[in-house]
Amino acid sequence: MDSFHLVIDGKLVDGAQTMPVINPATEASIAHCPRADEVQLNAAVAAAKAAFPAWSGLPIEERRAGLIKVADEMEARLDELSRLLTAEQGKPLDKAVEEIAGSAFILRALANLDLPERTVQEDEKGRFVEQRYPLGVVAAITPWNFPISLLLVKVPPALLAGNTVVAKPAPTTPLTSLRIAEMFNRHLPAGVFNMIVDANDLGSALTAHPDVAKVSFTGSTATGKKVMASVSSLLKRITLELGGNDAAIVLDDVDPKEVAKNLFEGAMVNSGQVCLAIKRAYVHASQYDAVCDELAELARLAVVDEGTQQGAQYGPLQNKAQYDKVREMIAEAADHGRVIGGETLDRPGYFIRPAIVRDIDDDARIVREEQFGPVLPVLRYTELDDAIARANDTDQGLGGTVWAKDKARALDVAGRLETGMVWINSHMNINPFISMGGAKQSGMGQELGQSGLEEFTQRRLVFVPA
Ligand code: NAD
Repeated sequence: MDSFHLVIDGKLVDGAQTMPVINPATEASIAHCPRADEVQLNAAVAAAKAAFPAWSGLPIEERRAGLIKVADEMEARLDELSRLLTAEQGKPLDKAVEEIAGSAFILRALANLDLPERTVQEDEKGRFVEQRYPLGVVAAITPWNFPISLLLVKVPPALLAGNTVVAKPAPTTPLTSLRIAEMFNRHLPAGVFNMIVDANDLGSALTAHPDVAKVSFTGSTATGKKVMASVSSLLKRITLELGGNDAAIVLDDVDPKEVAKNLFEGAMVNSGQVCLAIKRAYVHASQYDAVCDELAELARLAVVDEGTQQGAQYGPLQNKAQYDKVREMIAEAADHGRVIGGETLDRPGYFIRPAIVRDIDDDARIVREEQFGPVLPVLRYTELDDAIARANDTDQGLGGTVWAKDKARALDVAGRLETGMVWINSHMNINPFISMGGAKQSGMGQELGQSGLEEFTQRRLVFVPA
């Protein structure tokens, strides 16, 4: 495989060390990736700091034009980027194509947002004008499940607003991100976009760096708490997109076959490694057996294979640690309920077949904790109030779904869920122009849309006398 470099101050540089990147479908090393040390981290922050005055001083149209060139290049190199993403992340190639093409689309959409000065109020004394100005150096930290989409919801608004960026991908999926970093570097002035790679050891130095003004972080709730603690002494701005334990509530009037298909896809997409995946389903007792039977059949039919294989629907878990964790959670679930599926494949690679866990109670770990794998616990309820209370009985509050023929009833249920997003009879309907964010310990702040852009700015209110 071709070589990979860190991007620091407009240059492609070798890491202080290298580390292997593993294909999770074969467990073979596919590339040696540069790994930065703290000196290189400091150099990246210094470059971003030095580039900030000129970059933030450009008209927004010029910054926008640079970003759109990156989207153009991503689209022109769709095939190469998608193959690289499948090789390091594991997802089926058609899903990798969706991620790259979708990310280019999001990049273009976000680059076309604007930050106009606006009059908030005007009377005979004068007017209040709202202005937005950039913060400085932004640290963008991303996980391994959607390495490119999650990077490209952060970087375009940060840069469009006039900030400069030091990005850090997850250590197990750095390669496609480094290619995209090269593109930002090619189309933007030196130092505006920098990327370093670590082995899970530089995150805290980056977030705590005194010259980093804002941290935009996507990852687990546990790490999100560390990020918040590390920025507290300087009161830096933060956006946190964290873990979820999203509930699906299935009402008594559904078609079990149709709803099972949607639940299955919502739970198993990306082998369940999605912050917004359906992680628990509460199904009315009158539909419980029918829905569980359909889900079990779908689990039996699912095609789990290496992402490059034609027809593969689900790839491996992305890394060994996650594979071990999910296997352990499935084994534990068998003591609390009936597990259907969930077998590993007798070959190299971190493959786990989709699992449905039925007749399980609310206290089981697979229900209480985010599994982040291809496992769906299905719980029975008789009273809707009880299902809603159980769905809300968690520290997490990312998203949720409600499934019902009666949309008015579904909307009433949605209005009682303590989460940042709820979809009715659909799942993960995400639009780059609509801001989203988690409730409770699932996050803080918003990404996408105008609010997502404004999170990378400071609001300045100016009074202008009449
Ligand atoms: P993680 O928290 O372990 O790692 C995320 C990133 O943080 C990685 O780049 C990692 O190197 C870095 N990191 C590690 N320690 C750090 C520290 N002390 N300071 C700063 N950065 C540090 O998460 P993960 O296992 O890579 O990702 C899975 C988790 O991410 C799941 O919980 C999932 O729900 C969540 N997630 C949330 C969203 C969302 O939008 N809410 C999206 C995708 C994933």
